[in-house]
Amino acid sequence: MICDMCNHEVDNEEITKYYGKNLCEDCYIAELHRPKACDPAAVSSAKKSRVRMGQVGDAGLTDLQKKIYNYVKDNEKVEKSLLPEILNIPPSELETQFAVLRHCELLKGQKIDNRIYITTF
Ligand SMILES: [Zn+2]
Repeated sequence: MICDMCNHEVDNEEITKYYGKNLCEDCYIAELHRPKACDPAAVSSAKKSRVRMGQVGDAGLTDLQKKIYNYVKDNEKVEKSLLPEILNIPPSELETQFAVLRHCELLKGQKIDNRIYITTF
């Protein structure tokens, strides 16, 4: 099967349907984190400003971001679809906050056995 985004040929079981598109694993994860999370320039400036401000770990995060980050950190790996319920956050809000945390290279998505997990960097 051909990935609709990068046009690479990949095995059928590597393909994930996402909004009507057939995506390979890399593109699927990239797509989940759009728009800002996968922008390397933005990541590097977010990181630099945190370093400049002496922010490490969860310093400089909002309470909500800390809640997400600390929960994932304490559990090492959490299935993404379970987080809204566990943390009592609407899925869209979680997505937004996750993009920021991904941005600062605190959390990242990982696909294991067709499930998306969130882990620390
Ligand atoms: Zn692809």
